[in-house]
Amino acid sequence: MTGLHIPGFSRIGANRELKFALERYWRGEADATELQQTARDLRQRHWQHQQDAGLDFVSVNDFSFYDHILDHICLFGFAPSRFEAGRSESDLDNYFRMARGRAPSGESTHALEMTKWFDTNYHYLAPEVSADTRFSLHPEKLLAEIDEALALGHAPKPVLVGPVTLLWLSRGENRLSLLPALLEQYAALLKQLEQKPISWLQIDEPILALDLPSDWQQALRTAYAALSAGELKLLLTTYFGDLRDNLELALSLPVAGLHLDAVRGGEEFRQAAERLGSHQILSVGIIDGRNIWKSDLNTALESLKPVQQQLGSRLWLSSSCSLLHVPVDLDRESTLDADQRSWFAFAVQKLSELRVLQQGLAGEGQEALAANAEAVGARRASKRIHKPQVAARLNAVTAEDSRRATPYQERAKAQQQRLNLGLLPTTTIGSFPQTAEIRASRAAFRRGELDFASYEDRMQSHIADCVKRQEALGIDLLVHGEAERNDMVEYFGEQLDGYLTTANGWVQSYGSRCVKPPVIFGDVERPSAMTVSWSRYAQSLTEKPMKGMLTGPITLLQWAFVRDDQPRSDTCRQIALALRDEVCDLEQAGIAAIQIDEPALREGLPLRRGDWKTYLDWATESFRLSASGVADDCQIHTHMCYSEFNDIIEAVAALDADVITIETSRSQMQLLDAFEAFEYPNEIGPGVYDIHSPNVPEVEEMVDLIEKAAARIPAQRLWVNPDCGLKTRQWEEVTPALERMVKAAAILRDRLSLSEPS
Ligand code: GLN
Ligand code: ZN
Repeated sequence: MTGLHIPGFSRIGANRELKFALERYWRGEADATELQQTARDLRQRHWQHQQDAGLDFVSVNDFSFYDHILDHICLFGFAPSRFEAGRSESDLDNYFRMARGRAPSGESTHALEMTKWFDTNYHYLAPEVSADTRFSLHPEKLLAEIDEALALGHAPKPVLVGPVTLLWLSRGENRLSLLPALLEQYAALLKQLEQKPISWLQIDEPILALDLPSDWQQALRTAYAALSAGELKLLLTTYFGDLRDNLELALSLPVAGLHLDAVRGGEEFRQAAERLGSHQILSVGIIDGRNIWKSDLNTALESLKPVQQQLGSRLWLSSSCSLLHVPVDLDRESTLDADQRSWFAFAVQKLSELRVLQQGLAGEGQEALAANAEAVGARRASKRIHKPQVAARLNAVTAEDSRRATPYQERAKAQQQRLNLGLLPTTTIGSFPQTAEIRASRAAFRRGELDFASYEDRMQSHIADCVKRQEALGIDLLVHGEAERNDMVEYFGEQLDGYLTTANGWVQSYGSRCVKPPVIFGDVERPSAMTVSWSRYAQSLTEKPMKGMLTGPITLLQWAFVRDDQPRSDTCRQIALALRDEVCDLEQAGIAAIQIDEPALREGLPLRRGDWKTYLDWATESFRLSASGVADDCQIHTHMCYSEFNDIIEAVAALDADVITIETSRSQMQLLDAFEAFEYPNEIGPGVYDIHSPNVPEVEEMVDLIEKAAARIPAQRLWVNPDCGLKTRQWEEVTPALERMVKAAAILRDRLSLSEPS
């Protein structure tokens, strides 16, 4: 019979139990015993789901209190030395100190750096290594979880991240020189695992889906030659893409089985089946572990059948990757209607899909397959998904639609005339502190305790307050403050047709932090204006120009679960057209500057460099499509908050925004080097105030930063602003910080006008 397993399950719990337990522990409201109990309950429940679905194994060691890469740092004992000082008695607290810089006991120190796990929205903690790094084995957690699963009567398949991926994800020089020492520890660990009644070990090397330099390819050969000596069967596991030039390599490694992502990897698994060693098994990740749609099981079955004929019981079925990236259980959804419910499969439902496929391959399960065909067919045909007018509009888009009428230099003159802002204008990124009062008003409105009129009243008073404060500070280009927004994506998702929001569709982003991405299920349209009334009201309160504030098409796409029945580029363009209407309506309402935020442009980059251009072309075109409906004198801003622009600077320029505000203060303006080298043509607002820190910067620090910026970018094209939105900060910090920022800009303006030849 076809084998069934998954590369991993979610940890956070269907009701975010782990999140709440962690936060109680961190606040000192619960002890370690209570936290451990929650963890055990979650593991038990998640294994039970796997057992109930008839999987051959349960995945073990996919559970983590914070992050699985951090778990590996502990497993192989290579925490950076700064975590030695101030160590606590409690291993758990030392673990949390690495994750968060602090824990209930032990001394605070700066945490490990957190970064995105491949192209997902999950963040891992990056190991730090150097020539001095030493490894030592601490397998207690892993062994205990195996015993726990065994005691519950399960067949455990432990999961490890492989040594080469672990080093790849580490920070430091000469990482590969550590491979021999690390391999010794892996080998010792495998020896210990052999003592357990287990047959398979899953070992993840997702870097096989990346462009790999030849020394890293060689490292994989070395590693698996060393690790295959023992008795355990290794399931080499890759995900998030096809293997392309690395397929040959993966097939040449002396492992007992290979897992491939058959969702992102297309038909590559068929090639793999052809060339598989005669004793190797192939695990085909046919169920999408990255998205929430019900699979088309009948189609999947057709593509699996020839492989099954070839491999027999050496074929295993699986989700494409760990189910960490999807919400846990559709049954918890209370707000979906019957139609919508029939479209989705969350983690628990995906387990059942595997079971149906297994039955299908055995010539059984006809009823379930028929039901699946009906659901999939109904979604395809649903009138709620396809809107002819949206398709028609998209078809009618011309090249002109995604181009401003004139080049930046000319627009800049028209904008200068209308806005009349002078040298080094000051602005902010959009949000102002989301006070308890603001959040309470929104929550009351949501719960129906506040009617719209009273809600609008309250929001208007928050806007009025925010405008008054900005005027008092002397900021040049104002914002309304975003009090009405819970989240920059959800706010628009709730108002656009084609989007839906789930009640409980949480996915772990990092540690205890979860996100609830909205779902784009159908053609996207804007039934009515989304932000205009707030911006118009804000503008009515002041003589100064008010900046409209939107989330851009790429970010609205990237931070959602996206429909899988048309190219992402089409969905992005639909969103762009909806936003274009909003941009034009804002212009009509007298708004002279409109910011379209795109913090997700960079993270949407495909894993392989060869695929970047296609993505960047449609992504930047979508942005321009949303922005290009306005006259020359309407100034389009965009904002991004990360620091690696070198790779994408051309695409940033291709957005052709009149002004871009970016995060730069922590890097001391260094990242402007990319803009300077590229001779970035339009205006830039490099952040001078690090909003991620509660510290209030000094005037001189900011003067210094602006001068550094002016050494790279002509002052005529520079703006002065914070790094990002201020919603997570307090007014007590924001007011003095902005006061000083305005002062710093004034000092520089004086200096620059003095030095200007008259
Ligand atoms: N306009 C948004 C804000 O100020 C931008 C947030 C972001 O860049 N992530 O909150
Ligand atoms: Zn930002």
